[in-house]
Amino acid sequence: MKLSWKTFLLWSLPIMIISFFLWQGFLTPNSNDLNNNNTANSRMTYGRFLEYLDMGWVKKVDIYDNGHTAIVEAVGPELGNRLQKIRVELPASAPELITKLKKNNIDLDAHPTKNNIAIWNLIGNLFFPLLLIGGLAYLFRRSNNTNGGPGQAMSFGKSKALFQMEAKTGVIFDDVAGIDEAKEEFEEVVTFLKQPESFTAVGAKIPKGVLLVGPPGTGKTLLAKAIAGEANVPFFSISGSEFVEMFVGVGASRVRDLFKKAKENAPCIIFIDEIDAVGRQRGTGIGGGNDEREQTLNQLLTEMDGFEGNTGIIVIAATNRADILDSALLRPGRFDRQVSVDVPDFKGRLAILNVHARNKKIAPTVSLSIIARRTPGFSGADLANLLNEAAILTVRRKKNAITLNEIDTSIDRIVAGMEGMPLIDSKSKRLIAYHEIGHAIVGTLLKNHYPVQKVTLIPRGQARGLTWFTPSEDQNLISRSEIKARIMGALGGRAAEEIVFGDSEVTTGASNDLQQITSMARQMVTRFGMSSIGLLSLENEESNPFLGRGMGSSSEYSDEVAIKIDEQIQQIVQECHQNTLKIIQENRVVIDRLVDLLIEKETIDGDEFREIISEYTSIPQKYEYAN
Ligand code: ADP
Ligand code: MG
Ligand code: ZN
Repeated sequence: MKLSWKTFLLWSLPIMIISFFLWQGFLTPNSNDLNNNNTANSRMTYGRFLEYLDMGWVKKVDIYDNGHTAIVEAVGPELGNRLQKIRVELPASAPELITKLKKNNIDLDAHPTKNNIAIWNLIGNLFFPLLLIGGLAYLFRRSNNTNGGPGQAMSFGKSKALFQMEAKTGVIFDDVAGIDEAKEEFEEVVTFLKQPESFTAVGAKIPKGVLLVGPPGTGKTLLAKAIAGEANVPFFSISGSEFVEMFVGVGASRVRDLFKKAKENAPCIIFIDEIDAVGRQRGTGIGGGNDEREQTLNQLLTEMDGFEGNTGIIVIAATNRADILDSALLRPGRFDRQVSVDVPDFKGRLAILNVHARNKKIAPTVSLSIIARRTPGFSGADLANLLNEAAILTVRRKKNAITLNEIDTSIDRIVAGMEGMPLIDSKSKRLIAYHEIGHAIVGTLLKNHYPVQKVTLIPRGQARGLTWFTPSEDQNLISRSEIKARIMGALGGRAAEEIVFGDSEVTTGASNDLQQITSMARQMVTRFGMSSIGLLSLENEESNPFLGRGMGSSSEYSDEVAIKIDEQIQQIVQECHQNTLKIIQENRVVIDRLVDLLIEKETIDGDEFREIISEYTSIPQKYEYAN
């Protein structure tokens, strides 16, 4: 039997109409007002709720669902200090809750459940007809499709947008800041797209393909769009990861379509994002080659060769890993020009902040250069995000211009995650305080360590307490004694735990510190020639065995050398550990005082911290370890 849409509709319409009335007639008046109370989007655990109760942050409690659910109105630091409704699932029996609520004088209301078992039966009964209709519709569509002949994969590919086309990107060079070298590289490309005659007249050939290399968020996509915007040509874009499809051949056909459309619209820009997803070195990687990827790449290479230079199509590709690309892609006539886009330095950050501050209301007291100084390592996208977060926070605080306070809060959040609730006083709070003061004091008393910005016991992200240091401006060259100072600073937390609480009481809190320490010590030995192994480079910056080429090539040294490396790493860490223990021991008096102050205040800022220390000992730079 052949199904047609007519028979399908004939059958399904009455069923649908009946079900509609059933829903309308029986369900709506009885629908549980708990579900209507959909203002409560966030949830909280019962335990957290009890803590909130103890803190006096709960204002009102409505109990629904036979005592299984409560909608709580509360104010708290996690809730942005605004009154919010939160849903709490109550445990099966919580008799102490009601008395507790009464005792705390909290506005309490219980709502009877209106829905009864009959309703649920009804829903159950309705469910199957609906399922049936759905199933029928599905089968029907499938049978229709297979009747449509071969090429299901094709139609699957076609049903999605093949690539994006923007006639006008609206982005100009002024929107891109902090990557001036890269911008300069592209100025002639723009001139070429605008006046190709001036190039063809003297027989100059403009590159067909340019590869933008740089970490995520540095403005590669933005720059490509700006080129199209400046030259006033259309912008075609596709992402490498979209090429990698389930069906062999789809990726290649997309590449073909993309270039065909581009040729019709020349002059134009083709932008291929994440080209490493298709352009990885062929024939490597675990499990052999990937047919689909190779076909796509081959098609891309063919298309790149297929048009002459100076036809007005410029292909720009972006990646954060040029080292794993197939060498065929980088050959002359393809992506033979590489432009690197790096994380901005201080001046770059300032310029980017200026771009993104243009459409924001920032208090006149805020100096963008202070923000730029506080944000080494931030990419352009991070900075844009930072100003946006600060703007949102400003609205939430009902202020009318962004102040330094909102910006500081946003930086902290971007760097270390969301702020959590302060711990209640306990032994573990004390231990965390010693741990953090340990980091801070070692960092402060060591020559060659950058200064403490603040120490805090307010948890953030994964960390239970934090010591913030102000890094000096964008250091590219770091000396051996500086690395050692950093290792000692990182060891300060654990060392303080050991001395104050004893070896058997040390905690897992130092695991992250130890990771960093090990990595720094390892790099001293294997990359920077800072150990008695000598001036050898034994490891690459990034040797990721799972990505292409690097397979198996990361250990180019003998087993004996491997043993020596481990010995050297241990020796470095041990020596630093001894020095760190000594610093903690010799400064125990001021450490105890600082810990008490930290527990009382939760946060001590750098200046106050140094002032207290200077009452006891001379800073800065009391300790200096040359080796
Ligand atoms: P990428 O493609 O390198 O990952 P994007 O170009 O997508 O980075 O950048 C994301 C956003 O970050 C941009 O839309 C822009 O708002 C901001 N941004 C990044 N780099 C810069 C920059 N150099 N100048 C101005 N804004 C930038
Ligand atoms: Mg991008
Ligand atoms: Zn630590």
